Amino acid sequence: MTPLATFPKGGVHPQENKHLTNALPIETMPDPPAVSLFLKQHVGAPCEVAVPHRNDSRCEQSVSENLLFSSQHPGALFRLLVDKKDKVREGDQIGEIGTRLGAELHASVGGTVLGVENILHHQVGSAPAIVLRTDPEAVAPTRTPVDWRGFSREQIQERIAAAGIVGLGGAGFPTEVKLNVKPGVKIDTLILNGAECEPYITCDHRVMVENAREIVEGAKILLTVLGITYCAIGVENNKPDAIAALNKAIDQTDSTDGFKIEVKPLAVKYPQGSADQIMQSVTGRVRPSGQRSSSIGIIVQNVYTTKTVYDAVALGKPLTDRIITVTGSGIARPANLRVKIGTHISDIVNYLGGTTADLCKVVVGGPMMGFAVSTLDIPITKTTPGILFLNHAEVDAQAYGPCIRCGFCLDACPMGLEPNNIGIYVEAGRGAETEPFGLMDDCFECGSCAYVCPSKRPLVQFIRLARQEINQARKLKEAREQKRKAG
Ligand code: SF4
Ligand code: SF4
Repeated sequence: MTPLATFPKGGVHPQENKHLTNALPIETMPDPPAVSLFLKQHVGAPCEVAVPHRNDSRCEQSVSENLLFSSQHPGALFRLLVDKKDKVREGDQIGEIGTRLGAELHASVGGTVLGVENILHHQVGSAPAIVLRTDPEAVAPTRTPVDWRGFSREQIQERIAAAGIVGLGGAGFPTEVKLNVKPGVKIDTLILNGAECEPYITCDHRVMVENAREIVEGAKILLTVLGITYCAIGVENNKPDAIAALNKAIDQTDSTDGFKIEVKPLAVKYPQGSADQIMQSVTGRVRPSGQRSSSIGIIVQNVYTTKTVYDAVALGKPLTDRIITVTGSGIARPANLRVKIGTHISDIVNYLGGTTADLCKVVVGGPMMGFAVSTLDIPITKTTPGILFLNHAEVDAQAYGPCIRCGFCLDACPMGLEPNNIGIYVEAGRGAETEPFGLMDDCFECGSCAYVCPSKRPLVQFIRLARQEINQARKLKEAREQKRKAG
């Protein structure tokens, strides 16, 4: 038998723990009493806002207080399209990003605008969010599919941009921006990423099983935008029902339109679902460090993102909800749940019957790449794939020790980095000197190194600290340079 395709370097085999939810159909949670929609839902959007001063020259074309500027990213701005006490319908656009690297924001429920408040965020402490109070009488809009083949390439891109779609499987890069390939760059392959290698998480799996037809149609929409004909859907071999559903949808689709779409079963190995690894597994091509995937002729999109592209283009549906996996032994009833963007975790817990008495840790995301949180008063964003409720048996609470130079982390790193040395430098207060270890361009914080470390060293946290220190050092250098030029 031919071995399944996989990436050659590094990788680990953590316990999958998907059995709690992988056979549970997607269930829709009723609208919560209120939602909090972060202005920053994705890569590139402002993470701190301030009402601009009336004398600020940037206000000349603006509607004063309704224009919120990022004070961290010069030029980045977010224009509020609603005022306090405004009534909104589900799907109404309530904010627009004024930069290219952004995505529009829509009301995820029908109701009333309560205002912009600083709300706790699982990754950045707190951030500004538009808070909406749900009107229990509000009726969700009905949407009838249209034949997207009648749209031009530009019209398709406009619909994707207008729907506020971002990558649902990772950092949340705006989808329309990713599809805008620079002139002269030749793309020949679209890869749909259905690996979903993160333990516990099964939302993409269920979307592949239940929405395979929409994924295949979405693939054709993306191929049309890219002007190419070939698409491979990479799926880890531990999802045979998803592979069967996709193959059936491909068999049933019109095969005379010139597109070639095929499913590529992949070996089960973490992090099979990262962009670099799935590109290697499916095509054998390696992205040069510091370059984009388009430099090797490939665009990668997540399978669930592709389904939302279909929704946006064929149904005109903006991204107002998403499916998340709520799982672990610490939640009363695990589920694959369709929730409105901005739903607070506390409302989800109430809906699922509460937590168990032995709950020990709550993680937003998966166990390898997620973020532990200390409160349930945190809303779901466009990029939240799941929430883990772990009991004591599922949490390794062992304290970490010194590096024993075993080299296991070097073998596990799929990017060939040296996480052991990064950790040692950070502990010595020399994080800013770790740039030569390649973490800025190539580490995507997969956690494989930390997973195998016998000393339980928090290598991903060390890497995050090192990145912060490198960025601070760069800023300091730039400021000194500017001062020198000015002086
Ligand atoms: S977290 Fe970074 S250094 Fe560690 S294994 Fe993953 S890519 Fe390598
Ligand atoms: S696995 Fe842990 S102990 Fe071993 S070399 Fe890496 S950091 Fe050091």
